[in-house]
Amino acid sequence: MTQPIAFIDLATQRDRIRSRVEARLGRIMDQGSFIMGPDVAELEAGLSAFGGMSETITCGSGTDALLMPLMAWGVGAGDAVFCPSFTFAATAEVVGLAGATPVFVEVLPGTFNIDPAHLRRTVAETIAQGRFTPRAIIAVDLFGQIADYPAIRAVADEFGLKIISDAAQGFGSTLGGKMAGEWADVVATSFYPAKPLGCYGDGGAIQTNDSELAAILRSIRIHGMGSDKYDNVRLGLTARLDTFQAAVLVEKLAIFPEEIEARMRVARRYGERLAGTVAPQTIADDVVSTWAQYTIRVSGGRRDAFMAQMKERGVPTVIYYGKGLHQQTAYRHWPVGGNGLPVTDQLCTEVVSLPMHAYLDETTQDRIIAAVEESLKALGRMAV
Ligand SMILES: *Cc1c(COP(=O)(O)O)cnc(C)c1O
Repeated sequence: MTQPIAFIDLATQRDRIRSRVEARLGRIMDQGSFIMGPDVAELEAGLSAFGGMSETITCGSGTDALLMPLMAWGVGAGDAVFCPSFTFAATAEVVGLAGATPVFVEVLPGTFNIDPAHLRRTVAETIAQGRFTPRAIIAVDLFGQIADYPAIRAVADEFGLKIISDAAQGFGSTLGGKMAGEWADVVATSFYPAKPLGCYGDGGAIQTNDSELAAILRSIRIHGMGSDKYDNVRLGLTARLDTFQAAVLVEKLAIFPEEIEARMRVARRYGERLAGTVAPQTIADDVVSTWAQYTIRVSGGRRDAFMAQMKERGVPTVIYYGKGLHQQTAYRHWPVGGNGLPVTDQLCTEVVSLPMHAYLDETTQDRIIAAVEESLKALGRMAV
């Protein structure tokens, strides 16, 4: 019997850091510093150094990290926030939670990231219609790849909009050696366990170079507290990161740069073998992706059969995403740019993600690649 293949292997990494993490957790238990303990400050300093930004505000989840800047900027009723539809629900959910209107924008067929030309047309169209006031753009670094921020920044500057980088999947991704914070006003990330940098529960962080904004975010994180602890000055949340989770993340951050390199190595190997047959997500030469997912396209209505074939060969595959947000029940009443989102709709019928993590060894990867090739051959035989 061959070993079952993991879609994401968290156990190898856990064994690698276990003794260091357990020492930290034990100390927190001894001290009782469960809320805003010293590991939280240590992590925030480490994240600022890693991300090259002056301020890091850790928080309870990636969703908090996206919502809090909208709250801080007073984005609400009558405002429009532009975001892709081909993403996880939280990207647009926070816009609705803030009371504003998400406007869905198309993605590019190669990179799967927001299409800057479609974004520009959609903002102009929203202004012309006069129903909503454009306020911000949430760009997503999908599957780990940094979005085209220089082009997005040009649109933001033209119309006076803020940019939030939804880096839940792509925190640490670079373009020409620079992270999203080079162009975005705020970088928001998630530490959900399956993300490239994950903890052992829920967590998130916000980064910015704007110290005034950072002070407001720290207030929102704890119920809108002011400098006088008996006078809360705004509405906020309970959005702190637990000290336990911060302790896990300090140890994971220490090995993260090395893990990103390992993920790049795995992705390059997939690319060399699979390009030409299954149209993997394309990445530019000057991009380092964190490869949250390795996603290919299986066209012609053959995806379900392909996944069944892969399963027979013991290889797990997952669909991210099978339905654009603009097609989902809670979201479909919100506006869509242009005449619909044909690229998004097509991707939703074709994309499928293969096992990807920093500890995928070459032997296992060869089994996966062979399974892809055999599955495609089997589909070819069925089609005739
Ligand atoms: C996971 C994810 C989020 C939300 O993060 P949580 O920590 O689960 O709240 C937001 N955006 C994207 C693109 C994500 O993948």
